[in-house]
Amino acid sequence: MTLDLVIRGGQVLTPTGLRPGTVAVAGGRIVAILPPEAEAVARETVNAQGAHILPGAIDIHCHIRSPAYPNRGSVESETGAAAKGGITTVFEMPITDPCCNSPERVVMRRDHFAPRALTDFAMFAAPVDLTEAAFFALRDAGVIALKIFTTASPPDRDREFAGLAWPDTDAQMTVLRLAAKAGLTVFVHAENDALIAQAAVRATALDKADARTHGLARPPEAEAAAVASLLAMNMIAGARLHIAHVTSGLTVDVLRRFSGSSDFSAETCPHYLSFTEADVARAGVSAKINPPIRHEADRAALWEALADGTLKHVTTDHAAFAPEEKLAKDGDFLSAPPGHPGLETLVPTLLDAVATGKTTMERAFALLSGNAAARFRLPSKGRLAAGADADIIIVDMGAQTHITQSTLLTNARAISRLTDGHRYQGRILRTILRGATIWDGAAIIAPPGSGRFVNPEDPR
Ligand SMILES: [Zn+2]
Repeated sequence: MTLDLVIRGGQVLTPTGLRPGTVAVAGGRIVAILPPEAEAVARETVNAQGAHILPGAIDIHCHIRSPAYPNRGSVESETGAAAKGGITTVFEMPITDPCCNSPERVVMRRDHFAPRALTDFAMFAAPVDLTEAAFFALRDAGVIALKIFTTASPPDRDREFAGLAWPDTDAQMTVLRLAAKAGLTVFVHAENDALIAQAAVRATALDKADARTHGLARPPEAEAAAVASLLAMNMIAGARLHIAHVTSGLTVDVLRRFSGSSDFSAETCPHYLSFTEADVARAGVSAKINPPIRHEADRAALWEALADGTLKHVTTDHAAFAPEEKLAKDGDFLSAPPGHPGLETLVPTLLDAVATGKTTMERAFALLSGNAAARFRLPSKGRLAAGADADIIIVDMGAQTHITQSTLLTNARAISRLTDGHRYQGRILRTILRGATIWDGAAIIAPPGSGRFVNPEDPR
């Protein structure tokens, strides 16, 4: 067999652990992990001496929003940022204008992304029509999962949130039941709407320029109460349920108490793992994210939950905004739009955690990649083994990643203040998508359209 690519000289993260090896690739797939001394001739040889050869990350929670809002970024700019950040597949959320809430819009967005994407991608949809036929139609359109919020749609964003906002628990129960029938995963932004509404009224009496006001306007009990309610309902509904961006020790405790009660999973994000409310105060409204970044005890509880398996995924919740959108609300934590870029800091956060002994390389890449492939039924993704897609990153753990706004590829670099100046141990030297280098350590070298649509109904 003629090989297209061999990667030699590194430590390969295989499903059975890290070991020295040579990765052999043909036709976009890994054909073998060979012993390091094995002969292998290929069209291209990459020397990874002293480096780690790891699975590309799968970001299961990303907001690119294109084709709406070109001022916030494009499919090229944001999937380019993903590639630089060691991410080879992104799951794109349905919040766009208009909301991605029908099979036709899923196809339209798929066809918009396909000629532009630098990474592979999947599409979420919002369930606007709570009928069995509508759910089966979304499944047949190839969505990776449904997304809902347990909160009302934000002011003036009804078009973007059409089908997403389901604050009534009876509607949430219906979504879970119908999704269970259709075999769809339900991905939930969980905060209790009534508790948020009450807290927001109290917050209007406080200093809106103070980061603590945002924390008080969206308190941890609102998250925990929504999660507990969803998990209780899912004991009857029996859906595949996923809880987005867990922020607090209280919610971790709820997840543990419901362990084994239904088929659910949960994630957290790098900003909750690396930062606290004090960092938000320093960075200003650029660092306003919903739910809010909390306190040191919560940060510690999230790391514990990653270690004991309560949380099985780390995701970006990447949200690009144009600087004028955030800066128009400078000094106003109550009305500034929520979200921060994360595509270029997700993998560095976990590499740094490996370097400092917070986690192992095996667990880090289960959290970044392997668990996502298993949970979202993408059997060709998330592992370095014969037969899998050759989605690979090469990492130098002896070097650092220094994040500065000017070197970010995301179009939202100007609002990327939370992570500005941050140093992470570990540096991504190269990102490879299905055997082709897309990021060479200095630049994006693949053409737009290198990425492909992936979905659980057609795993290749
Ligand atoms: Zn999100």
